[in-house]
Amino acid sequence: MLVTKTFKSDPVLLKKYDVSGPRYTSYPTAAQFTDTFNEQDYLQALNNDVSSKAPLSLYIHLPFCRSICYYCACNKIVTKDKTVVRHYLDYLRKEMALIRLQLDVYQRPVTQLHWGGGTPTFLDEAEMTELMHHTASYFTLETQQGRDYSIEIDPRTVNHQTIDLLRGLGFNRVSLGVQDVNKTVQKAINRVQDIDELTDLVAYIRTRSFRSLNFDLIYGLPFQTEITMNQTLDKVIELSPDRISCYNYAHLPERFTSQRAIDRHTLPNADQKVGMLALIIRRFTEAGYVYIGMDHFVKPDDSLAIARQDGTLCRNFQGYSIAKATDLVGMGVSSISSFDRVYAQNHRTLEHYYQALDASQLPVAHGLMLTDEDVLRRTVIQRLSCYRELNIPELEGAFSIDFKLHFSKAISQLEPLIEDDIIELSQNSLAVTDKGFPFLRNICMAFDQYLEESRQKGYTYSKTL
Ligand code: SF4
Repeated sequence: MLVTKTFKSDPVLLKKYDVSGPRYTSYPTAAQFTDTFNEQDYLQALNNDVSSKAPLSLYIHLPFCRSICYYCACNKIVTKDKTVVRHYLDYLRKEMALIRLQLDVYQRPVTQLHWGGGTPTFLDEAEMTELMHHTASYFTLETQQGRDYSIEIDPRTVNHQTIDLLRGLGFNRVSLGVQDVNKTVQKAINRVQDIDELTDLVAYIRTRSFRSLNFDLIYGLPFQTEITMNQTLDKVIELSPDRISCYNYAHLPERFTSQRAIDRHTLPNADQKVGMLALIIRRFTEAGYVYIGMDHFVKPDDSLAIARQDGTLCRNFQGYSIAKATDLVGMGVSSISSFDRVYAQNHRTLEHYYQALDASQLPVAHGLMLTDEDVLRRTVIQRLSCYRELNIPELEGAFSIDFKLHFSKAISQLEPLIEDDIIELSQNSLAVTDKGFPFLRNICMAFDQYLEESRQKGYTYSKTL
């Protein structure tokens, strides 16, 4: 079992390194995807994989939501019209049929499955059952024991019966969008949920033997202060989820129109956000959670904490995960697939997504083929994000490079972080110090070959802290 550490963050350093940058759920990031990548490139990648017997990971994007949360930056469609789902399920089925033509699905068990959104629980019970049934008819679902099947739940859309159904459909991990329990904050983001109902839901989920329960929280929302955050943390710690993802709210109203409904004068300033982050890290680690890395805390006996110890932790488009399957098939609007040296993203609008499938084409809009240099840098970023340490001789052997020569620019960018005791560079390793845990994104940015270019193109990122 991992030993948990209590952190007392340094507010001066938090403020110093509070810059904009990617979350590195992939490298290269989606900013590098190009429209010149098309269906043929994706088919080629699938074709290269045709003889593989390796397990698969599936991601299914369910974009519908019944109301808008003002902070939202997801690809979603807000509607009260429940009939949209019927049509969407028919198209998901077409997409599954096309994918199945390209992969030896009988030999490749689906060890990981994730329904994300939008709001997957916008679907009614019959629709959820139908979707799982379709998935089982086009792919080979793994046994109950070997699978990690997870779903994002908006607590406002489910009851005990829905939880029973999800368990019966084979999900064994659930993630609840909590964000904040303070009523003023909830009203300001248009996401009001009753704390007693949440408490009841959590208690019920506990009785249904899910492998893990995750809470999503956000800091930096309107009207949040250290005092309200402390109260939210009290409640979260009392409810004791196995995993907690605590994201920094990125206010980018020029990119996400719903955020224009948030009055920027009600947002905490940079100092207040830094104070909240320091509080979050201290409270969760004092409560016994392991700070696994970028925004994520888990209990010491959680499989993610164990994966970090046994070397099977990875970072993918859903955040931290266990590397049960390295090939990821994304289905639905805007979903991203990842195969060895290829990322492929589906069309973001229903119109284009449906059009491609009507023409019996995989609905790929853009993507990227990774170069050798991309693969090398991805390895560095993955190692640092997941294990906070890079074994230099091992990397040099695997990629036939001289680390210090090859990464001289990155090393010079890391110098201030070395001086601030955030990272240590020796002959054999690059290691993040205990003090450096909150700065993983800043460290990874030094190895990102494209960051400057994407900033110049006007691509905006959230703040790192
Ligand atoms: S935060 Fe989730 S539930 Fe709210 S609008 Fe965005 S996708 Fe929908």
